[in-house]
Amino acid sequence: MKSFDYLPAQKLEEAVARGEPRTSRFIAGGTLLVDLMRLDVERPDLVVDLNGVLSSDIAWNEAGLTLGALARNTDVAYDDTVRREFPVLSEAILAGASPQIRNLATTGGNLLQRTRCAYFRDAAVPACNKRKPGSGCAALEGYTRMHAILGVSERCIAAHPSDMAVALLALDAAVHTRRATGERQIPLGDLHTLPGTTPELETVLEPGEVITRVVVPRSPRGRRSTYLKVRDRASFAFALSSAAVALELEQGTIRSARVALGGVGVKPWRAAATEAALVGRPATSETYRAAAKLATSGAKTTPDNAFKVPLTERVVARALERAGALA
Ligand SMILES: Cc1cc2nc3c(=O)[nH]c(=O)nc-3n(C[C@H](O)[C@H](O)[C@H](O)COP(=O)(O)OP(=O)(O)OC[C@H]3O[C@@H](n4cnc5c(N)ncnc54)[C@H](O)[C@@H]3O)c2cc1C
Ligand code: SF4
Repeated sequence: MKSFDYLPAQKLEEAVARGEPRTSRFIAGGTLLVDLMRLDVERPDLVVDLNGVLSSDIAWNEAGLTLGALARNTDVAYDDTVRREFPVLSEAILAGASPQIRNLATTGGNLLQRTRCAYFRDAAVPACNKRKPGSGCAALEGYTRMHAILGVSERCIAAHPSDMAVALLALDAAVHTRRATGERQIPLGDLHTLPGTTPELETVLEPGEVITRVVVPRSPRGRRSTYLKVRDRASFAFALSSAAVALELEQGTIRSARVALGGVGVKPWRAAATEAALVGRPATSETYRAAAKLATSGAKTTPDNAFKVPLTERVVARALERAGALA
């Protein structure tokens, strides 16, 4: 690992100012950053520790749920209000990583975790446009079973790995940030960017911009929500395909719906066509199956990952069945 300076920030303004150069990195739980520094994929000159300047509070009020950026994944997953009002969020977090990692991992860090593409994580592989812009993409000629089928570009097909982000997308959450010019609010669906010709840019955050909290609004769909994740092992594995689903029903008819996908998109993916096909329809298996068929509209597959299309249809249909059956 390359040597670096360490700054435990005392004030948020200090963190923003010192995090601004492209050679700085913020650290929260460290479960991702330290991993990538050990692999020589991340080589910052300065690591700015956010633990002294951000909140870890989990609060529920008229607006909904506010998660401090430092709220640990374990604390969010087992919070009584989260489990009651937004079961999808608790289930998504508990479907990821391990208890030890979740104890350290934070809300902000989880949303900003980087892809698990094996070629990206191996600094000895020369071709990776995300790691070294313009160098090519080893995955396109390589093994792509875990890679994305939605939102891919000719430069990068890496999947976004976060489970929590998929649940937060289905809950219409927004990320609140602080940057040099002030504060702003970013809908979760706008936080991550498509790879296009610049896969090295993964979010709309500016250098030095800190996530301070995440707000999940109260929702008529919150309690009837669930997360279903299919993976190679029953635990401690990233998603091959997952779905976060939230439904509002009225006398057996679907009034509104949110469906977000994980493991298949270059970013947490909203299945808009599926949502549209659900609204106004009876809450039946037939409706769920028909709507699920639209979930991967526009998919671009490789021979290794084409199985994700039918798999995702089944995952979405089953998640909808599960949400529809909730009391
Ligand atoms: C073995 C293993 C298995 C895992 N399995 C899963 C899984 O199945 N599903 C899943 O979703 N995740 C999984 N994870 C990933 C895990 O969820 C992330 O490592 C964790 O959530 C990152 O949070 P952190 O606080 O430790 O982030 P850090 O490592 O501290 O930071 C991550 C990134 O976010 C930036 N950052 C952190 N906080 C802020 C902030 N407030 N503002 C701006 N930038 C910030 C950092 O600069 C860094 O780039 C796994 C991890 C490991 C090691
Ligand atoms: S898919 Fe993206 S992250 Fe993976 S090797 Fe290609 S450019 Fe790099």
